[in-house]
Amino acid sequence: MRILNFGSLNLDYVYQVPHFLTPGETMAASSVAVVPGGKGLNQSIALVRAGADVWHAGTVGAGSDVLTELLASSGVNLTWLKRGEGIQGSAIIQVTPAGENAILLCGGSNREITAQQVRETISHFDCGDWLILQNEVSCLKEMVEEGKKRGMHVVLNPSPFEEKLLEMNIGLIDWLFINEVEGRQMTGITDPDGILNALHSRYPQISTVLTLGKEGAVCDAQGTRIYQPAFEVKAVDTTAAGDTFTGYFIAAYTQGRNLRECMLRATAASAISVSRAGASASIPLAAQVDAMLANASNM
Ligand code: ADP
Repeated sequence: MRILNFGSLNLDYVYQVPHFLTPGETMAASSVAVVPGGKGLNQSIALVRAGADVWHAGTVGAGSDVLTELLASSGVNLTWLKRGEGIQGSAIIQVTPAGENAILLCGGSNREITAQQVRETISHFDCGDWLILQNEVSCLKEMVEEGKKRGMHVVLNPSPFEEKLLEMNIGLIDWLFINEVEGRQMTGITDPDGILNALHSRYPQISTVLTLGKEGAVCDAQGTRIYQPAFEVKAVDTTAAGDTFTGYFIAAYTQGRNLRECMLRATAASAISVSRAGASASIPLAAQVDAMLANASNM
């Protein structure tokens, strides 16, 4: 069984600034770092570090070498990644001394994906393969429809959320991964059980995993609801926590682990990611997650 991640790849330009820019202001940043980012990239790295066979599809543009080199050296298959004419997707991230950030996203090459490319790419996959999707790419609706037509298991992380997503046939999705903000945006409800109840009555066949930040996560699948508290760590940088969770959960599930084990591994992996700086750089290897779980069971 193969996992196809049709997802975004971004160059993140991270600027350390005294404060966020205000209208009309010009200000010097104290430093800049260019690092691999994008929800798609983070999820592919999490999947492959968790031991899954991952194909990453999408479109890259000028300046993408640092992204493709990271994916390839991590073991992600890039056969179906297309080189486009435009500029690589990017994010400009201002970080203040207090650790707050403000992010300007530009889809770039991630928004050049066409319906024809979606059909062509998905035709190389089979019934029973998995399709992982986020909302940072063009043609998301076509991806969901083609994946389902092909008999793939369709996983959606509807992030960043926009109202337009609800016009899509969400009922075609098999697994939904959301955080509390997305849960509220989808249902208008704030408490976790209320969110899951509302989603279950609207889309009874979908399995949902709701992440709750430092409170952990809850999943509603196969007729059961499983609560998993978070591991206690010193939070350094929560970037990519949700992507690490999704990647580790899906990898564990496709490796035949039961729901409780999937929740536990995903929670441990995302806690490690939270305890480290950076996005993809913070995503642990499977052996590090094993070590954390072994430690926890000895306590
Ligand atoms: P997102 O990054 O998408 O906003 P969350 O903030 O819900 O998602 O975090 C995803 C997962 O990361 C949580 O379910 C939890 O397991 C883990 N996590 C997040 N914050 C912390 C924290 N402060 N301590 C330990 N684990 C955390």
